[in-house]
Amino acid sequence: MSNSETIFTKIIRREIPADIVYEDDLVLAFRDVAPQAPVHILVIPKKPIPKLEEATPDDHGLMGHLLLKVKQVAQEAGLTNGYRVVINNGFDGGQTVDHLHIHILGGRAMQWPPG
Ligand code: 5GP
Repeated sequence: MSNSETIFTKIIRREIPADIVYEDDLVLAFRDVAPQAPVHILVIPKKPIPKLEEATPDDHGLMGHLLLKVKQVAQEAGLTNGYRVVINNGFDGGQTVDHLHIHILGGRAMQWPPG
């Protein structure tokens, strides 16, 4: 696993500002700086796993926690009519920040297939 720091590490450490909507010992959730929907929140593990592909069996509990927190954060954001959950993995997946993050997109009807 790469140890390189990203902008998300700086958000976790409060070195740069973010609109944080949820935090616990393991995860942080904050609003995307360039929202692609009326509600666009990123949920990240505090552990700097660069991408989904690099999660290991040791991360089993963390990954379950992360997904359950996605559900909680979406509920708390008022997304009662559904929402989309996205993980971009690697170059072809469109990943631009090398710190695992789950997008919650909601507040409008989503299209399929995505671009
Ligand atoms: P990816 O394309 O890697 O799946 O998603 C990265 C997301 O991080 C993008 O939606 C982008 O807008 C968001 N992002 C990048 N830099 C920042 C930042 O400094 N603050 C916040 N809140 N979001 C960011």
